[in-house]
Amino acid sequence: MTKDPVNQYPSQDGDGLSQSGQTQPKAKRWPMHLRILIGIGLGLAFGLSSSAGGWSSWVLDWVKPVGTVFVNLLKLVAIPLVLVSLVDGVTGLKDLRKLSSMGGRTLLIFLMTTVCAVSIGLVIVNLLRPGDYLSETKRDELRARFASASAGGLDKAEVFKEEGPLAAVINMVPENIFHALSHNSSMLQVVFFALFMGVAIMTLPASQTNLVRDLFGQLNRVILLMVDMIMVIAPAGVFALISSLIADFAGDNPWEAVELLGALSVYALTVVAGLIVMMLLVYATLLRLFGNCNPLEFFGIMSPAQLLAFSTSSSNATLPVNLECAEKLGVREEVRTFVLPLGATVNMDGTSLYQAVATVFIAQAFGHDLGWADQLTIVLTATLASIGSAGVPGAGMVMLVIVLQSVGLETAGIALIVAVDRILDMMRTVVNVTGDAMTAVLVNRWMGAKSTDKISEA
Ligand code: ASP
Repeated sequence: MTKDPVNQYPSQDGDGLSQSGQTQPKAKRWPMHLRILIGIGLGLAFGLSSSAGGWSSWVLDWVKPVGTVFVNLLKLVAIPLVLVSLVDGVTGLKDLRKLSSMGGRTLLIFLMTTVCAVSIGLVIVNLLRPGDYLSETKRDELRARFASASAGGLDKAEVFKEEGPLAAVINMVPENIFHALSHNSSMLQVVFFALFMGVAIMTLPASQTNLVRDLFGQLNRVILLMVDMIMVIAPAGVFALISSLIADFAGDNPWEAVELLGALSVYALTVVAGLIVMMLLVYATLLRLFGNCNPLEFFGIMSPAQLLAFSTSSSNATLPVNLECAEKLGVREEVRTFVLPLGATVNMDGTSLYQAVATVFIAQAFGHDLGWADQLTIVLTATLASIGSAGVPGAGMVMLVIVLQSVGLETAGIALIVAVDRILDMMRTVVNVTGDAMTAVLVNRWMGAKSTDKISEA
């Protein structure tokens, strides 16, 4: 008799149910979100002591690789998971028309929430005016110190700008699926191929496709088990990520880092305030009104994905766990496997909000007044720039170049915000992945589910 491998790896929150739908024995371990939180807390303490004790380079040499391996493992399963689970999900659909209406509704929610995020960012930054708190001396100092760091993104943003208005459509259709499968940045192309293949499979009579359907269903279960296996080392992974981040940022002189944070604290708090409004007001209200879902339970179930997004600053790396959380939220397979990979690539509410705040902050710091026309331009370009930002660390700052140029600001102004970008990246990525899951809940309900079964109105 062979042993069931699933039972050796309790699902991430120990609730005894993995995505494969198999019941597992109750695991006697702490819930995943708690273990990740402990990893973050210990990583913070360890990183700070390494910096104060002058051994931050040791952390970078010996601890950082653990975090890198953890993130690589998550990215490793992301593309196979999207391919297999999307084909599996689509072949389970009864009706092809459902697919196009699901696509339309998903894109509509993505667009509306992104525009809402940019608008919230603009209102808050105009109210708090963080740029006025940055002294001229500090501004020039930051400019001189981070000039080279801000130049890096210019080329990538230029390529994006020159590609033309329909570039996104062209880029979605791969000319070689093996090329797409071997590049993490080609997630949309993999989504396209999986949808195409899923539609073809379901168009043929079931008697002719039994083998293929079974194959994808079984592969799906295998990859989900791999995700659970990877999540066993999540606490160690986030510990390594957070401690090395601090060692990197603060070096052996933590006071200098504290001073830098102090100078940019009003700006950073403005971004954080916007992100909080987005989560606690906009998402919570939409979930309550249109998702028939208790926001508190939603955030509770989402916490492993949110903590992972915070630790990795990457929507792509968080995707496998976000898919698992969506399952626990009761989102059906065909919906979550469609909405979440798409969202990880194009729906970045946190990023768009941050880009709006950063642009106006830079304008304020340089004493430029942005009128209504400029602010409207920001709504448009920040929406586009966030769609174009990849789900990887720092992508939002690269695409910020486009927003700055659209209102005639010098791209070198990015030097003013580089110092705190990684910290804000962690926070905006949390909002990015939460927005994707929220959309999945809404679409799930809109597509006919009475409620997200497991978290219906408390
Ligand atoms: N790190 C973000 C993400 O992966 C993108 C950004 O830089 O804003 O979602």
